[in-house]
Amino acid sequence: MRALVKHHAGEGLRFVTDRPTPEIGPRDVLIRVRKAGICGTDRHIWQWDEWAAGRIPVGIVTGHEFSGVVEAVGEAVTRVTKGQRVSAEGHITAGLDYNSRTGNAHIARDTKILGIDRDGIFADFVSVPEENVWPIHDRIPDRIAAAFDPLGNAVHTVMAADVSAKSVLISGVGIIGLMAVTVAKAAGASRIFCTDVNPPRLALAKKLGAVEAFDVREGSGWLGEIRKACRGEGVDVLLEMSGADAAFDQGFRALRNGGTAALLGLPAKHVNFDFNEHIIFKGCTVLGINGRKMWETWYQMEELLLSGRLELDEIITHEFPLEKFEEAFATMISGEGIKVLMDLG
Ligand code: ZN
Repeated sequence: MRALVKHHAGEGLRFVTDRPTPEIGPRDVLIRVRKAGICGTDRHIWQWDEWAAGRIPVGIVTGHEFSGVVEAVGEAVTRVTKGQRVSAEGHITAGLDYNSRTGNAHIARDTKILGIDRDGIFADFVSVPEENVWPIHDRIPDRIAAAFDPLGNAVHTVMAADVSAKSVLISGVGIIGLMAVTVAKAAGASRIFCTDVNPPRLALAKKLGAVEAFDVREGSGWLGEIRKACRGEGVDVLLEMSGADAAFDQGFRALRNGGTAALLGLPAKHVNFDFNEHIIFKGCTVLGINGRKMWETWYQMEELLLSGRLELDEIITHEFPLEKFEEAFATMISGEGIKVLMDLG
């Protein structure tokens, strides 16, 4: 089969046509991949930065965001059938540890991630345990289903923070931050403020429903503006999506006392952060967000999509055939594309 393989400990991926089709065990499902999304994680793997070098096994098929069709099922599979349109939760666990058994499989100790710890989806076929397969609703198109993974991150973050009738600051409007804008709006946030350093994305955030979008390179005047707009107190909810050092400090300054902060963005190194001022005396609630809740987030995401209230057309910007993967990655890495998909036919 065709596949994009991390062929060496350096930059890039290699396109191969002779990768063996994965074998499936009795409880596994073989899925023919139709559309694959390029994630920020895939960019790290492409560029082979410090994180990727320490984590990714050379020789692996990369990629984890996708939609496809069931090609074959193991003999013990009962729920999905050949020909069914599906996506999958990319965090795979044995389901036996404490968190898996208490409704928190997204933070299971033994999690293996598609395209990171085991062969992923930049390939004609991928093998996934039946438990992880998510049938796609008839009314949800393949290109939207290919973005379930990052959209699920946005839904998980927004729903964890409980934004209904609340003012919200989204710091960082990359792919997931922009998705969080439309999700927060659909989930009933009263007013959404955004910060970033990218004017076109800030403009898109406003189009998607933010009342104000601030370029933080223009100084910290925006902090005063947000506080003033929110009774002099600050926003009810902070959704941190940037991972930028300064954004943690500024985001918590913009948060009112007793507010809730949900943190999804990953800082590249230890962050300089005032715990006394920002958490203890503020009396705020801080939530760490990892992956998608299995399966609460998936049901919420499906309902939000079926409500017709999510605007994703301007977030999923490009689609290339798999063979043009170099162009696809360049479009994503340059920032010209937001969510870039590859079509496998
Ligand atoms: Zn991803």
